[in-house]
Amino acid sequence: MPFSTLGLSDPILKAISELEYSAPTPVQKQAIPEILRGNDLLAAAQTGTGKTASFVLPLLQRFQDLPKIRPKRIRALILTPTRELAVQVADNIAKYSKYLPLTSMAMYGGVDIAPQKQRLIEGIDILVATPGRLLDMHSQRALHFDELSVLVLDEADRMLDMGFIEDINKIIERLPTERQNLLFSATLSKQVRFLAKTAIEDPVEIEI
Ligand code: AMP
Repeated sequence: MPFSTLGLSDPILKAISELEYSAPTPVQKQAIPEILRGNDLLAAAQTGTGKTASFVLPLLQRFQDLPKIRPKRIRALILTPTRELAVQVADNIAKYSKYLPLTSMAMYGGVDIAPQKQRLIEGIDILVATPGRLLDMHSQRALHFDELSVLVLDEADRMLDMGFIEDINKIIERLPTERQNLLFSATLSKQVRFLAKTAIEDPVEIEI
């Protein structure tokens, strides 16, 4: 099954073909159509399965024709447990959106907040962030969630292991209630399912 059957636009397919991805991976085959339909998703998928593209490509598809985002606004928030993962996901977004006018950035703690604030002023379509820095930014009114329509929790089990549950709950409380939620985790443990219940309504479940 080629990528072209998934309903993705030409600029996205062109970027993928330049990366020499010949066909979607199992998680991509299952997740991309569900996300494009607007469903919430609970997905068990390990790193290395192609899970990043499985949520990034539908986001690009969804946002590609929208007008330029307003200052200090974001359309999608991808929460990750670590700076390394945030950077890696943002690098992937940059590659997949090579032929689209969409903006993205990685935002994490442990570095000066000022340059990150400066970049947010323009507005960012897809923000990849670690929970602590995101809360800081929002509390400082450098970022507003009123245009957010998608929340992705990436490596949710690791975020829970690292003690981010309170931060995640605080973030979710501040988001618009009308939104699409996508949760990815290596395992669907009891704790992950509990988090999913608080964040997600009636998700489609996929397991790789
Ligand atoms: P991930 O599981 O998202 O960390 O992705 C693992 C690696 O697989 C990354 O280096 C991706 O660039 C690569 N990848 C993702 N999707 C595909 C695909 N359909 N075909 C070939 N490689 C892929």
